[in-house]
Amino acid sequence: MKITFPHIGDAHLIGRIFFSEIGINIVTPRANTVKGLEKGSEISPDEICLPFKLMIANLIDAYHLGADTVVMPATLGPCRLGEYGELLKSILDCKGYRFQWILIDSPGAIGKKEFLSRLAYLVSESDKSMPVILWALARTYQIIKELENLDEKAHILAGHEKQRGECKKVLASCRRDLAKVTGVREALKNIRYHKSRLDGIEYDFKKRPIRLLLTGEIFSMIEPFANHRIEELLMDMGVSFKKRVTLGWWIRLTLFHPILPWKPLKSKNKYLPYSIGGYAKETVEEGVLCSKKGYDGVIQLFPVGCMPEIVSKAVFSKMMKEKGLSILTVIYDEMGGEAGYITRIEAFTDMLARRKRFEQNQERITFLKRIRGKVHVLSGH
Ligand code: SF4
Repeated sequence: MKITFPHIGDAHLIGRIFFSEIGINIVTPRANTVKGLEKGSEISPDEICLPFKLMIANLIDAYHLGADTVVMPATLGPCRLGEYGELLKSILDCKGYRFQWILIDSPGAIGKKEFLSRLAYLVSESDKSMPVILWALARTYQIIKELENLDEKAHILAGHEKQRGECKKVLASCRRDLAKVTGVREALKNIRYHKSRLDGIEYDFKKRPIRLLLTGEIFSMIEPFANHRIEELLMDMGVSFKKRVTLGWWIRLTLFHPILPWKPLKSKNKYLPYSIGGYAKETVEEGVLCSKKGYDGVIQLFPVGCMPEIVSKAVFSKMMKEKGLSILTVIYDEMGGEAGYITRIEAFTDMLARRKRFEQNQERITFLKRIRGKVHVLSGH
């Protein structure tokens, strides 16, 4: 069994570490490219969304590299991602790419027993004992969490760097090294080393950079090719930002939460109280959070053809009026050109920075007026 799975952010890095720890080799498709996307588009249904086209291209590539088994994440639907496994299988079968399929669906959808039996089948060729496999699985989740924390810290600190680009370099170096490690212990050591490198950078905490919340469709949030590397772009601009939708977030939401004996408190959201597919409801909740936590603005990302996020975009328009939020929606199409996106994002951050400066000046003027008033009162005495 030669396992492969499509690219979703760091999944290939983390998957390789886990499987090599338990003695299974996996086949990693080459990184997403515009050429790959064109190939994927050729055999995909016309109206399907971008993640499907990239995934099908990845799987064809992996087939040529020797893979024979696909592991696919699935969701509860009604987002189309929930059906991708079946659709990918039938198209690839027709085209002669015959794989064995293992769908990792939510335990809430298929039941805990079936979920565990699929996981057991996935690791059936390992020569390690079950406790060792479970230990490796737990440590792999720890890698995901620690890498997430490193990213989060770097995204915030990028706005305070004395020399632009330092945090970005640390993240890139961490991922380069993770691609070479052979086990979970080495991976964790590498992430901690890069955390200390991040702490060693010089920062100016007097700076008040603009603070953004990055949200939107899950695949575009996680896969850098699908979002034209927006995180690096924002770090280069000296923006501090937060992104909650990550691989770890998805694992917690779809795999852990359904089997927890208690349910974590959900934030109330009067704008879109029901799930309408994808993670549109969660995207809207991010907008609510933005207004509460004092972010300067929100950037919403999604690929052309994504139905759930179109709905959250409509809800955001209402929230912009009612809550005075500043939201930029960036819809990525299948063209490789980036200049248009970069110009829009730069214009948005420039506008927010000017508004912030204006507000800071207003605060200073009000403060000075108050002080002067007090001086008059004192001199009157
Ligand atoms: S959330 Fe949107 S883009 Fe993502 S898989 Fe579902 S329909 Fe496609």
